[in-house]
Amino acid sequence: MTEKELKAIVVDVPDFPKQGIIFKDISGLLSTNEIRSDVVDKLTQPYQGKRIDVVAGIESRGFLFGMLLAQKLKAKFIMIRKPGKLPGPILKTSYELEYGTDSLEIQEKSIKEDDVVLLHDDVLATGGTAAAAITLLKEAGASKVYANFVLELGFLNGRKQFSESTHSILKY
Ligand code: 5GP
Repeated sequence: MTEKELKAIVVDVPDFPKQGIIFKDISGLLSTNEIRSDVVDKLTQPYQGKRIDVVAGIESRGFLFGMLLAQKLKAKFIMIRKPGKLPGPILKTSYELEYGTDSLEIQEKSIKEDDVVLLHDDVLATGGTAAAAITLLKEAGASKVYANFVLELGFLNGRKQFSESTHSILKY
């Protein structure tokens, strides 16, 4: 499928979850085997022949394709979760939101020293979430992190928040 065809499946939802925000709903990309397979092929394309030990999905939509990527790349899958969801011992990092702060957690032993990690989330917007996740993965011992997203809101310059090699398949 072309980028244009895949973009036509993504729905713009005005004023969700808050007034003034246009939310990109990626649900349709999960709906059929044909679409899912195409998205997974495109998401994994840059890593063919490269070492990926772990795919790390960010809660919660990063779990969806994240798990399929791990399956395709024959890698381990781990969850990066919101506070209080994972049984300990855990590693935690906090990051700034527009109003206030939020945190992400992983289980301390989920990454081995020197693991190469593919970080996955559905959307790269301002980059704050991904930057915090990368900090956490490096703190846990990852030697290299690749950043990977279904959809990238390029006008928000999220890539500028980190220096890791970044791949997204639908650019806006
Ligand atoms: P950031 O930290 O880059 O500003 O925001 C990225 C996070 O917010 C991701 O975890 C993503 O799931 C969520 N997000 C932000 N905007 C959207 C959107 O328009 N659609 C979807 N599906 N998720 C979004």
